[in-house]
Parts: sequence; C-alpha cells; structure tokens
Amino acid sequence: MVEQKKNPRRSLIWYCVIVLAVMAVLNTILMPQLSRMQTKEVDYGTFLTMLENGEVKEVQKDGETIAFNTVDENDPFIYVTGAWDDPELVNRLTDAGVKFSNIIPKEESPWLSLLFGLVLPTALLWGAGYLLIRNMQKKMGGPNAMQFGKSNAKIYVAAQTGKTFADVAGEDEAKEALKEIVDFLHDPKKYESIGASMPKGALLVGPPGTGKTLLAKAVAGEANVPFFSISGSEFVEMFVGMGAAKVRDLFKQAQEKAPCIVFIDEIDTIGKKRDGVGLTGNDEREQTLNQLLTEMDGFDGKKGVVILAATNRPETLDQALLRPGRFDRRIPVELPDLQGREAILRVHAQDVKLGPDIDFNAIARATAGASGAELANIINEAALRAVRMGRYAVTQEDLEESVEVIIAGYQRKGAVIAPREKELVAYHEIGHALVAAKQTDSAPVHKITIVPRTSGALGYTMQVAEDESVLMSREEIFNKIATLTGGRSAEELIFGTCTSGASNDIEQATKLARSMVTRLGMSEKFGMIALETETNKYLGGDASLACSEGTARQVDEEVIALIGKAHEKAIGILKENLPALHELAHYLLDKETITGEEFMAILKKYDEPAALNG
Ligand code: ADP
Ligand code: MG
Ligand code: ZN
Repeated sequence: MVEQKKNPRRSLIWYCVIVLAVMAVLNTILMPQLSRMQTKEVDYGTFLTMLENGEVKEVQKDGETIAFNTVDENDPFIYVTGAWDDPELVNRLTDAGVKFSNIIPKEESPWLSLLFGLVLPTALLWGAGYLLIRNMQKKMGGPNAMQFGKSNAKIYVAAQTGKTFADVAGEDEAKEALKEIVDFLHDPKKYESIGASMPKGALLVGPPGTGKTLLAKAVAGEANVPFFSISGSEFVEMFVGMGAAKVRDLFKQAQEKAPCIVFIDEIDTIGKKRDGVGLTGNDEREQTLNQLLTEMDGFDGKKGVVILAATNRPETLDQALLRPGRFDRRIPVELPDLQGREAILRVHAQDVKLGPDIDFNAIARATAGASGAELANIINEAALRAVRMGRYAVTQEDLEESVEVIIAGYQRKGAVIAPREKELVAYHEIGHALVAAKQTDSAPVHKITIVPRTSGALGYTMQVAEDESVLMSREEIFNKIATLTGGRSAEELIFGTCTSGASNDIEQATKLARSMVTRLGMSEKFGMIALETETNKYLGGDASLACSEGTARQVDEEVIALIGKAHEKAIGILKENLPALHELAHYLLDKETITGEEFMAILKKYDEPAALNG
C-alpha cells in the first residue's frame, strides 16, 4: 500500500517553531535600531510654526497631548506637545491640509509588539490552517489529504469485489472479449511465445445500467491480480496539476504491482475532447488527460498492465485516447435482447423466493428496451410488493405490477377521476390497442389498464413483442406511428374533441417520424441522405441538424405529412371497427384492467361474421 508519510501535523508544528525562532532572533537584532524612533517634546508655538511651514505630516490628538511626525522621511522623531486649549486647532489643521485623528501611538515594549505583531497572528493562522486541513481531511474521507498528489486509487483483489462472470447475464460478446484479457493475465507466456501482445486498453461503451461497471468488477474477481479502480471524477481536482499527479501516481503503483488491471470508470469526465480555441479555462482537465495519454504510451504492454475504462458517452472522448496503442479495443455493452433480459431476470431472482407461476419469458417480452439495472429493480420491486401483500413468495402478478411501476410509476389508488374523463381514457387506450392489433405487423397487446399512476399517466397499454427483431422495416415503423396516434384518434372519433393526454404519444410519434426522414433514409423525397447526426447515442439520443435551412423546412413538411398519413390510417381502422371499439372501451371501463387475451377474445367476436361475409 501507500507508504505512510510522517505525521503531517507534527511536521507542521516543527515548521512553526523554527519560523518563530528565526523571527525572534531577527527581532532582537533589529529592535534597537527600530527603537531609535523616539519622542521629542516641543512647545505648542513650535508646532504651529511647523504646521504653517508645511512640515507637519500627520497629527494625532488625545485629550491634552498632540503627537505628530514631519514630512521629512529621515526624521525619526515623533514630536509631542501639550495641547494649549486651542479652539482654532481643527481649522488650522484643515487649512494646512494635514491628516489628523484622535489616537496616539503608545510607545510599546518591543516584546509586547512582538507578541501582538507576530506571535498572535501566527498562532491564529496556524490554528485556522489546522482546522481547515482537518476539515478537508474529513471531507476527502481519508487521513492522506495532506499528501497532495497521492492518488486515492483503491486496490481490489479477487475476494473484494465478489463478482464473477456468472453474475453478468447476457452480454456474451463483452464477456468473451474480457475473458481473453483475463486469460492473458493468467498465462502471458502463451501469448508471448506466438508474439502476440495484449491490447493496452479496452473501453466498455454502452447505455447506463447495462452492466459496464459490473463487468469490470467481474474481471477483477476472475483475474486474481490486483485491481485498481478509480472513477474519472476522482481525478477532477481543485488545483491545477493535481489530477495529473494522481494519474502519474496511479500508473506508478500499477506498474509496481504488474500484472494487474486498472479500471477507470466514467472516463468521459477526464477524457473529453480538448478544444483548441481560446479561453477554455479547463487547464486542469487537459493536463490530466495529457498525463493519461503520456502514461498509456509510457508503459510496456508486455508487463501485463491492462487498462479498462467505461463510458456512456464515447463520442465525446478525445480522439487521441482511442487510437491504437491506447484504448484500441472497444467493447460494446448494449441493452439486453429478449434472451439477455430473461437471463438477467433469472440472475437477480436467484436469492428471491419465487411462486410456482413465474414466467420470466413473459416479463422479458414485456420489457423491451429495459436495461439490466432496470430489470434488477423490477425483481426487487416485485419482492417488496410480495412483502407488502403479506406473502412469502413472489408471484407473476407481483412481477407484472412492478414492470408497470418501473415503466409508469406506482398506482394512485386514491385518485378520483371524473366519470367522463375515465371514459375518455378508456377509449384512448382501446384506440391504441385496436390500431395495434389490426395492423398485423404491430406487437399484440399484453395488458391495458386505466388505473391512474403516480407518474401522471391515466391509462397505459403494455405491448409485448412476440419475437424480437433487431431490424425494423419502414412499414413497421409507420404502423408504430399509427398505433401511437390511435389514442388521440379515438378521442376525436367518439368525443369530437382532443385532450392533453396524448402529449407523450405525440412526442414519440414525432421522434419516430423524424428519424425515418432524417436518419433512416425512409422518405421518398430525400432517400438515403443523412440529414441529422446523432450526438448522444446512449443518453437519450439528441440529434443535431446537418442540412440547410431550406432542407430543414422540407424535412418538417415531410414529417408532418407522414404523421398525418398515420393518423388517417388510425382513424380509418377505428371507423371500420366502431362496434368493437365501443364494447372494448366499456369492458375496460368496467374492469379497469384487462389482459391481452380478454381483449383478443372480444375482438374475435367481431372478426368472425366479417370473415363469413367475405
Ligand atoms: P453501468 O456501469 O453500465 O451504468 P452497472 O454495471 O453499474 O451499469 O449496473 C448496475 C446494476 O444493474 C448492476 O449492479 C446489476 O445489478 C445490474 N445489471 C446490469 N446489467 C446486468 C447484467 N448484464 N447482468 C446482471 N445484472 C446486471
Ligand atoms: Mg457504471
Ligand atoms: Zn396514448
């Protein structure tokens, strides 16, 4: 570990004692000269003459006595004169333009002045400094705060993370890539004999909650070598140069302990692109990054130091970090697919008592787009619900309810909703479901509910993908947009109005339509042209327009036309199925929550006669 330096507090005391001693010696030598500053008595008349001659510089008066010095810099005397009770004194002084005040400097003993001038301030400063440092130590959470420049990198060994690859479900490609690194650390000879050298660094990239940190911990658990883990934000320091010093120190420690693994989490905090222009005020960050780049070049990969890093903003990283010889291996850790989700649910359910009716596959199908962290949360919420209900095991119902909790918030049991509003919500949700069901390509409905949620949602349709396809065709996306407009369409058709309840649908529909036009090359007008670039793929996916203003206007027109068409289609479907819409909406109004099977059963009733006729 870090070698313990001498107690910083003791050395500080010694420092103060030495400084004090030196000052005292200097003072005793200098004091006789200083005390040449003597007082000299003159009479009031002389004072007035000197005042008139402009010789007086500063005057101080205390009761009967006046003390003053002269303009002459070389005159060491302070003159004193008994004040002759002179009512004109103030006027005279004002006329002569000299400074005057009411206090007289008392002649002090040199030791007293030493005490007040030096010892006390020093003691005060020392005390304040001591308190400050103690405070800082407390805040920085370690007794080593005085050792500026020492990194706080923790050393993990296998037993300490307690994670293995078995704890990570799905993410097989990422595990494969990391296993190779672990293997290299265990048996470097095997690689050396062929002449292969390990990549110096591997960068785990992917959305939040997909298990990047978990994977790194698993590597630590499997590799049986020292594991240094530090978060990018820990390099961010108050003082310029401190971050760089930390990096230097971390790599020094790492090289001493090789073979070992260094893990830098959230590396984007220090690895951001350096921008060339002007007053960035980011000297500290750039220095830290430069140091990191230098260190990564500096050490020998054959020695067995492997650097892992994780980020969910790879596009912000400086190019220099990504070039071969640094983080040359990029390991994507994407959102889990259907199988991955099921596996993650199983991993986290290991320590949970489960009822006999659990179907993880159904839950996995209902949670498309959920991250590993969200799935872990779903299991925990289900367990909590089971406890709340006074049960000893988790049931499928718990799991389904907690999926909704994670996606839509808790049920608002007490919420009172006007009957008309409730009816409207029922038609809205059935509108979505009906449009979805009637378009063969859309996923069938799993569950519809109009129990209000804490998130503000009044109703909610849970869709389930039968099998998950990675690619989506133009028709599928268009159908999805139509489904999103289905809720509003039902409101318009039945009530002749529209409500604010569709705002989220509108947002999603617009986003989809926009990406069709600008990124997926699915509009006839523009074809395969990228009109937008995605800037933040893993965190919400902001996009920035990359086209002229005129084109942007045309894009808007195209998007409007697309959504209009989808809306029309939805209205058409609902009009054709008006009786089914009414029955389903009233059934839902009655039951508040209906399953996909109930929904399909009612819908089938209306299908069959039509099929007979046709
Ligand atoms: P990231 O670092 O990618 O943001 P984490 O590694 O911190 O995400 O994951 C948070 C939590 O989510 C983990 O502690 C784990 O409980 C759960 N988790 C995420 N992905 C997985 C996975 N693939 N397998 C099992 N658990 C996972
Ligand atoms: Mg993380
Ligand atoms: Zn809706």
